[in-house]
Amino acid sequence: MRTISVVTCFLLLLSGSSISCAASTSSSSQEEVPPPREDVDPSLTEVWEPEPAKIDPGNAAEAPSDAIVLFDGTDLSEWEGEDGPPAWEVRDGVLTVVPETGTLRTKRAFGDVQLHLEWRTPTEIVGEGQGRGNSGVYLMDLYEVQILDSYDNRTYSNGQAGSIYKQFIPEVNASRPPGEWQSYDIIFSAPRFDTSGALVRPATMTVLHNGVLIQNHVTLLGPTAYRGEPEYKAHAANLPLTLQDHTNPVSFRNIWVRELED
Ligand code: MG
Repeated sequence: MRTISVVTCFLLLLSGSSISCAASTSSSSQEEVPPPREDVDPSLTEVWEPEPAKIDPGNAAEAPSDAIVLFDGTDLSEWEGEDGPPAWEVRDGVLTVVPETGTLRTKRAFGDVQLHLEWRTPTEIVGEGQGRGNSGVYLMDLYEVQILDSYDNRTYSNGQAGSIYKQFIPEVNASRPPGEWQSYDIIFSAPRFDTSGALVRPATMTVLHNGVLIQNHVTLLGPTAYRGEPEYKAHAANLPLTLQDHTNPVSFRNIWVRELED
C-alpha cells in the first residue's frame, strides 16, 4: 500500500481531498524509509577484479596485440590448401584466390573467436548474381559468412554479401563498389554438444560489414547448407577457419583472430 506522510496528508486535506489520513498515517509509521542515495557508499558497486589485460588495440590497418595474425601481407605460413600447400597468390601484400585451386584453411583450429578480415572483389566485373566476386569465410569450416560483390548485383537476399549463407539476411547492404577494400568483423560463439552428441547450445554470430552492424547476435540453425535445411551434427570444439574458392579472384588482406573465452 502506498503511504502518505503527515505533511502530505495535511496538504491534501487543505486542498479538499477526501483521502483518509488516519489509515495512511498509521501505516506510514511502520514502513521502512529507504535511505537517501547520498548515504550509499558508491565504492560498494565498484568491481576491481579481474582487471582486463592491457593490450595495444592497434589501428585500422593492424591487429590488436593479443590477436593471432593469420595474414599480414607477407606469407601463408598460417594456412594450408585442401591437399597440401596453399596455391593462392600472395603479391604486394594481398592474398588472391587462384580459381579452382581449392579452399584455404588455417593450420590452427578455433572455437569462439573475434575475427577481422578485409576483402575485395575484382574491379573488372565478371558474371552476375552468385557468380560475381563470390568467396566466403567459414567459421569452423562449417558456418559461412558470404563474400560477394553485392554493390549492384541482385541475388537472393540470404545469399548476398554479409548474409549468413541461406540462414540470415544482412540487416542492411553496406557494400562498397567492386575493387574497394571492405571489412568484416565477426564475433562467433561455437555450438556446444554434450558427450552423446546432442546440441546443448547453438552457435551465435554477430557481423559488422565496413563497421556497420548487419548481423546482431543471430542464432545459427546449423552448418551452412547449399541444399535443404541446415541441421546440427556434433563436431569438434575447435576447427579451422576456411576461405572459399568460388572460382572468382577475390582478394584478402589483414586477417586476424582473437580467441574468446567462454
Ligand atoms: Mg560464398
